Amino acid sequence: MSKKAKIGITCIILLAIIPVYFFFFQTEKEENESIRKNVKVVQKTTKTASTDIEAEKTETASADQDNKSTVNNEESVKVEISKEDPKRVNPQVDDEKENVQSDFLVVIDPGHQQRANLEQEPVGPGAAVTKIKVTGGTSGVATGKPEYKLTLEASLILGELLEKRGVKVIYTRTTHDVNMSNKERAEIANQNQADLFVRIHADGSTNRNVNGLSILTPSEDDKFTKAIFQDSLQASQLILNETQKNSAVKVNGISYRGDLSGFNWSQVPSTLIEMGFMSNPTEDKNLSDTGYLTNLLTNIAEGITLYSSSKQ
Ligand SMILES: [Zn+2]
Repeated sequence: MSKKAKIGITCIILLAIIPVYFFFFQTEKEENESIRKNVKVVQKTTKTASTDIEAEKTETASADQDNKSTVNNEESVKVEISKEDPKRVNPQVDDEKENVQSDFLVVIDPGHQQRANLEQEPVGPGAAVTKIKVTGGTSGVATGKPEYKLTLEASLILGELLEKRGVKVIYTRTTHDVNMSNKERAEIANQNQADLFVRIHADGSTNRNVNGLSILTPSEDDKFTKAIFQDSLQASQLILNETQKNSAVKVNGISYRGDLSGFNWSQVPSTLIEMGFMSNPTEDKNLSDTGYLTNLLTNIAEGITLYSSSKQ
C-alpha cells in the first residue's frame, strides 16, 4: 500500500471516530444534566414534605421513574433522599405527615360475631319497625368456617391493603367475642365521621349452585338512606368496577337496599360487600384461599382508593 493510501485511510478512520466520540460525550452530558434535575426535585421535595405530602408523593414518584433510565446514578440519588429524609431528622415532621396522609377514614365492619344477638332494635332512627340486632350469619359448606371468621380475616387484609395506600382504617371489631348490633356498628362509623363505612359479608343460599360477588348499596327511595345514597352508590360502583377486572371472580352486580339497619343508621356513605356464596362449595373454598381472597380484596381496596381520590 502506498504512503498516500495509508494517510488517506487514517484520515477516513479519524473522521469516522470524531462524530462517534462527540455523540457519546453529548449523551453522557445530557444524562448528568437530567440526574442533577432529579436531585433538585428530591431536595425540593424533602424541604416541603411537612406541608405538602401529596406533592411529595407525586414528585418523588416521577423522580424515581426518571432514575430508571439512568441506572448508574441511582445510588447517589438515593443517598440524597435518605440524607434529607425528614422522618430521621425530625420526628415531629413525621406526625404531621401522618395527619395529612390519614385524611380519608374508612370504618370496616367485619359482619356478624361469635354469638348472634336475637334481641330487636329499630330498623332506623325513630322507626317503629324493629329487626334482630345481629344475626348468626352463614357458614361454609365445604370449609365449615362460620361467616364471622371469614369476614374478620378478610377485613384485616383489606385494612392492611388500605393502610398501605395511605387510608386510615378503624375496625368495628377485631375479635369474635363481641356483642355489637348492626345499629351500633353504624354508629361507630358516624361517631368517627368516617368517609366511608365498608361492611364485609359473605352470602348463603339453599341452592348450592348460586355463586358470585354482589355489592349492597343504600337505596335511593328509602327515607333513612336517601341522604347517603349518592356517595354510597359512587363507592359501590367503583368497587364493583374493580372487582370486574378480576377474571377469577364472578360478579353479580349491585343491589339497592332500604331494609338494612346497618345502612339506615349510618350517616356516612356506606357499602356492603357480599364476597361470595359460602353455600357454593367452590366459592367457599376460594374465599378461604389466601391468594384468591387477597386478590379480591386488592380489587376492593383499589375501588375504595379511587373513591377517596374523587373526594379529595
Ligand atoms: Zn352476613
